[in-house]
Amino acid sequence: MNALDTMISPATAYSVAGGFADAVVDIFAHLDLSLDTRKGDGLAVFSPIDGSQLASLRTDEAGDMDAMVANARTAFAAWRDVPAPHRGELVRRYGLLVREHKEALSQLLTIENGKILTEARGEVQEVIDICEYAVGLSRQLFGLTIASERAEHRLTEYWHPLGVLGLISAFNFPAAVWAWGTTVALVCGDSAIWKPSEKTPLTALAFAGLLQKAAADYEFAPDHLVQVAIGDAACGAILADHPDVAIVSATGSVRMGQDVGVRVQRRFGRPVLELGGNNAAIVAPSADMGLALRGTIFAATGTCGQRCTTLRRLIAHEDIRGDFVKRLIAAVGSLNIGSPLDDATHVGPLIDKAAFDAMQRALEQARREGGTVHGGERIEVAGSPNAYYVRPAIVEMPAQTDIVREETFAPILYVLSYGDFAEAIALQNGVSQGLSSSVFTSDVREAEKFQSAQGSDCGIANVNIGTSGAEIGGAFGGEKVTGGGRVSGSDSWKNYMRRVTATVNYSTSLPLAQGVKFDLDID
Ligand code: NAD
Repeated sequence: MNALDTMISPATAYSVAGGFADAVVDIFAHLDLSLDTRKGDGLAVFSPIDGSQLASLRTDEAGDMDAMVANARTAFAAWRDVPAPHRGELVRRYGLLVREHKEALSQLLTIENGKILTEARGEVQEVIDICEYAVGLSRQLFGLTIASERAEHRLTEYWHPLGVLGLISAFNFPAAVWAWGTTVALVCGDSAIWKPSEKTPLTALAFAGLLQKAAADYEFAPDHLVQVAIGDAACGAILADHPDVAIVSATGSVRMGQDVGVRVQRRFGRPVLELGGNNAAIVAPSADMGLALRGTIFAATGTCGQRCTTLRRLIAHEDIRGDFVKRLIAAVGSLNIGSPLDDATHVGPLIDKAAFDAMQRALEQARREGGTVHGGERIEVAGSPNAYYVRPAIVEMPAQTDIVREETFAPILYVLSYGDFAEAIALQNGVSQGLSSSVFTSDVREAEKFQSAQGSDCGIANVNIGTSGAEIGGAFGGEKVTGGGRVSGSDSWKNYMRRVTATVNYSTSLPLAQGVKFDLDID
């Protein structure tokens, strides 16, 4: 919380008495946005809270997508000439709008995505934070001067805007991931098209709508600087294939990334892939057990197990495993499961029936592979027979079997044990994904080893903190089938720009690099 947070309007309660569809209409009216031009029968949108329909939207077809890309190209040609700090001014204004409407946006996000309100507020705060980050960045897009081997020569590297960003996002962070990429791309001088998840298009229309409003009021922002494409995978594939979409940032499953990554690469576009994780925490005997327990529970059950960084594998030392698991099962048993709009709730619903079915299939397979399942059952919530609430599952496994090596996007925590630390690291790295990891230990050697080149092979390696809940400053992303991309943080702005290397000769001779001689007798 910083000083500007005093500007946040007091919590506004949107009545849900008339149903969530009416609450959505109220929220859009409050934001001074309209859904009228987006209404249609292409895509029905549901609330995971009770399974009720929220809206029905018109989808974008191939012709619409082509027009969008053409408009984005035109917008890019104008925007790249606006000085970067002035581009930052647009993002600053947008950040203030999001801050002003934080509560309305959080409630919309919860209604459409189902994450508990405090996590939705956290996600909206992340959008605000990344705006501030991008504004600062707009004055720090720096290049390098490199020592030239030739006298009176200057060797430099500088950065230019790259083009149109096509951003494909997943349902589980329906606003933050877009903001990570788009606000940074905007200050870098790119235009952007957002293809949100078909499960969360309303949140997208609200967040992008506010940015479009800020752009309409800003004299330097061209038309069509930021657009939204509503549709399913086919819509995303058009962005992946389109030669005029310079960068495709795609967040979602490994299956999606395998398709999108190849499509973009085939035409030598720039892919930025943020894909699935299968994150583990090692709990060593020296760990502060209270801290490890709290870190484990939030990481494993937050967002109902639907974070890319959700803790899915617990690798506990054999000496402490029994006691730790007992406490874990008791703690998970005490979690409040129910409406995410209720402040007392810890765990809201799964996104839909398909997610519930996938969870039950995984638990069945775990049993077949020798696992002992605690929890994992469906929880009835009054008035929500068409929603899918579950008790998070703790599954004691005899070994790292096939199901443990898969990412099931649901709250299932597999527990494994280890004897020596090298074995723990081998288990941690023994999966195809490489997003997030952590170790709970008070042994400095273990902590350092875990972070060394022999340690975790993930993009995120934490010590005495869970696998989820990254801050925006650090580069976010992972290795192996997680895709290798970094959407935001640190120097990932370079993904949104093109690098130019320039040599300037201010001498009166023309020496060639590496001492090559090419003498010609001409004046
Ligand atoms: P998903 O792969 O089903 O869909 C993600 C997006 O990709 C959607 O917008 C979808 O329409 C689009 N899409 C799917 N197939 C496509 C294709 N072939 N071509 C073009 N677009 C396509 O994922 P989801 O169920 O929405 O999200 C859950 C997954 O996302 C999990 O695997 C999770 O780990 C991952 N995720 C990763 C990160 C990260 O930063 N690494 C962040 C959030 C979510």
